[in-house]
Amino acid sequence: MKTPPNETPLNPGIARSTAAAAPAPVRVHWMVRMNWRNRSLFSAVLVPVFAVHLREVHADTATWVLMLVQLLLFPQLVYGYASRQRDSVRQRRAELGVMHLEALLFALWSALLGFPLWPSFILFAAMCLNFVVFMGWHGLWRLVLVLAAGVLLGAALVHPLRWQPDTSLLVTGMCMAVFTAFLISFARDGYLRALGLHQSRSQARRQLEEISLLQARLREAALRDPLTGLYNRRHLSDTLPGALARCARQGTPLTLVMIDIDHFKQINDRHGHAAGDAMLQALAQLLQTQVREGDMACRVGGEEFLLVLENAALRPAWERAQALCQAFEALAVVHDGARLQATVSCGLASCPEDGTDADTLLRSADRALYAAKAGGRNQLRAASAVA
Ligand code: GH3
Ligand code: MG
Ligand code: MG
Repeated sequence: MKTPPNETPLNPGIARSTAAAAPAPVRVHWMVRMNWRNRSLFSAVLVPVFAVHLREVHADTATWVLMLVQLLLFPQLVYGYASRQRDSVRQRRAELGVMHLEALLFALWSALLGFPLWPSFILFAAMCLNFVVFMGWHGLWRLVLVLAAGVLLGAALVHPLRWQPDTSLLVTGMCMAVFTAFLISFARDGYLRALGLHQSRSQARRQLEEISLLQARLREAALRDPLTGLYNRRHLSDTLPGALARCARQGTPLTLVMIDIDHFKQINDRHGHAAGDAMLQALAQLLQTQVREGDMACRVGGEEFLLVLENAALRPAWERAQALCQAFEALAVVHDGARLQATVSCGLASCPEDGTDADTLLRSADRALYAAKAGGRNQLRAASAVA
């Protein structure tokens, strides 16, 4: 199939070298391209039909020339006009104008030739299809008006208009074949557009799903500490007030356990930062295995962690924290052949005894942790026991 004249540069080399200076070419509107192709094809196959008919009615030379101009030149001229419009809105508008002009000219042809039945019928049916496809039912009324204008113009040019509806069997058969080909080409366009639409919809749906998944992952990543995978301080600030409100509503306790590795700096200094990281990851893993449903483990600072134990009063929380301290003490982290061991200190604060809002409760747990450190480390302290 031929390429529309202004879609592909004739010399890509020249096009490339001037690309920086010239503005980007406007892509020709699909309606202009589609009508150009169908109009060119349909008109070209109409040439033999009209040729046979004109020969049978002994048309003069001027009619023959006009027929060739209409069927071979007109589609190219109007494509040039519509595709050269500045933007796609103007191109579409120009194409609609071309469709009106084309209908007017075909009505004029029909009138001047004495309304030959089969050629007139296929032209009329093709115009109906085109107008309804691009303008809806509304297009039919426009078409009737344009056709009436074409016939009136014919009547004004030739006085009186002839009435010669009969066509030969050959012209009738050719008209049927041409119209069938036109309908098939029209149906194929409809099918391809529907298919393209379906494919782009499926692609858009897939992309939307990917974006949603990515958004969910990003949201989750923003709430997690990258080294340990535990929730971060931001997530704690977002969720702790809610957890406290829930406990206040249900009249259930909540305990915070603030955990800090003892002399962690020495591990870094002696064995390197990577060894320190391995120790942080080991403690995080231990915390994750210790939390129950409804509890939350966060990394709130360098080597500082926090457990939020919902529905846990001080005593059971103390027992769980103690078990955790013992488990960590017993844990040996092997890094680069070195066995690393450490202890933790814990500060516990319970709601409602040590505070009912997030800030107060966190300050209480911090105070208790400070007391555990001051008391010699590797131990637990409750905020209620700290002065
Ligand atoms: P204390 O017993 O009083 O808690 O002493 P400490 O040495 O554990 O506490 P300090 O606050 O003096 O040192 C904490 C160290 O933690 C200092 C810092 O370099 C290290 N640190 C913070 N974040 C990270 C991290 O992500 N990875 C590693 N390897 N070290 C970290
Ligand atoms: Mg420490
Ligand atoms: Mg610390």
